[in-house]
Amino acid sequence: GTMTVGDLAKLLHKDASEVIKKLISLGVMATINQELDMDTILLIASEFGVEVEVKIPVEEDTFETVEEVDDEADLSTRPPVVTIMGHVDHGKTTLLDAIRHTNVTGGEAGGITQHIGAYQVEINHKKITFLDTPGHEAFTLMRARGAQVTDITIIVVAADDGVMPQTVEAVNHAKAAGVPIIVAVNKIDKPDADPDKIKQALTEYELVPEEWGGDTIFVNVSAKQRLGLEELLEMILLVAEVNDYKANSDKRARGTVIEAELDKGKGPVARVLVQHGSLKIGDAFVAGNCFGRVRAMVNDKGRRIKEAGPSTPVEITGLTEVPLAGDPFMVFEDERKARAIADRRSIKQRQSELGANSRVTLDDLFKHIQEGEIKDLNIIIKSDVQGSTEALKGSLGKIEIEGVRIKIIHSGVGAITESDINLAAASNAIVIGFNVRPDAQADQAAQQEKVDVRLHRVIYNVIEEIEQAMKGMLDPIF
Ligand code: GDP
Repeated sequence: GTMTVGDLAKLLHKDASEVIKKLISLGVMATINQELDMDTILLIASEFGVEVEVKIPVEEDTFETVEEVDDEADLSTRPPVVTIMGHVDHGKTTLLDAIRHTNVTGGEAGGITQHIGAYQVEINHKKITFLDTPGHEAFTLMRARGAQVTDITIIVVAADDGVMPQTVEAVNHAKAAGVPIIVAVNKIDKPDADPDKIKQALTEYELVPEEWGGDTIFVNVSAKQRLGLEELLEMILLVAEVNDYKANSDKRARGTVIEAELDKGKGPVARVLVQHGSLKIGDAFVAGNCFGRVRAMVNDKGRRIKEAGPSTPVEITGLTEVPLAGDPFMVFEDERKARAIADRRSIKQRQSELGANSRVTLDDLFKHIQEGEIKDLNIIIKSDVQGSTEALKGSLGKIEIEGVRIKIIHSGVGAITESDINLAAASNAIVIGFNVRPDAQADQAAQQEKVDVRLHRVIYNVIEEIEQAMKGMLDPIF
């Protein structure tokens, strides 16, 4: 959606002249009736120190409209939301369990822990929220559905094993999402543990420990023997403090469905992470295409609660159907409105369609470049051998076309997987397969998400295709 300079000024509680002045200082000549695009709106708002939120599709024909502006004064610190990723068997699940059972010093300690998709621990009187499903697959699947849930990623690497393919995937998925990374070097209790080897290996992926002049936090832990956990939690709080995560808890709740299922006794239940505002018993809401009214809420300690603020995970009942993980969740003024919106959403399936249509393909790349919509061409490379990957990266890096930069957001050896496709969908990337093909699930996901996958056997052809696409000289494929 668009808004004029005048509308924006009103929303920001500023004079139009102040907004125009700010625009001019940014090199944009504008009048009061001029329509502004989303980027400019966000930029101006941030120049005035105001957090702008982009709302999920609600109005008939607007996909993204500015809904509300939070005054700096209405924002307060919220707990960081953390996801744990890493190679299989490096200890993600053990670490999640160990942290869950850390001796919390909060009033909420005790209680029967419930699996509700996420949990909170408290350290130094501060809370941290952990998502319970480890791994970059879940993380990126949520992102591909448009959900931005995670603030901080913990990448677990087993000190007796080393940096493995899924470690690298996790690093690249976190980077593509722009989420800060803390490395937990796990299994340091093992006799053959070599934490320095891990640090050394990760420097190759631009994760350089602070003591070596970098800015990545590394913490040595043993999930099994519960060593270093407190330090890890303190480091999470440190990163949270630096990034100053805030939300307005005094408005209608909005968040993301983390999990949902049909419970035999309770009916449809959704486990939701509240991200903005506060969710209360009786609230009418939309979750994806479903609607409902919050009948009961249970927190991660198994307690019934009446209200849940930002970064709090809760299990709710009172839905009419089962939503999907990653679905946006939003409270409305009454049930009638919620129902109308859910209906409209289910008819149109607007979100996925719009998402898919706006995805970049090589065929329309040039158009996007010309319209100034694309500055980075994000590429994922999968090939049969590491040597080919490196050669491709090298050659693609040499392509220079004015106005666009090629960014290899992930590369690896092996078939193209569903996780690669989700990363591409979440990051608006194209996928190049060199002497490899997508596996069955990836193939299906690519069609569904309309991700452009290009398969090649000759390096020269890859380079030529990308170059021509960037120049708008690609022959259309029929
Ligand atoms: P995930 O696949 O990353 O979730 O890994 P798991 O948490 O399932 O752990 C894989 C194996 O490593 C299990 O047998 C764990 O008991 C073991 N493990 C996890 N953390 C540690 C640790 O700190 N030290 C030792 N010695 N073993 C660990």
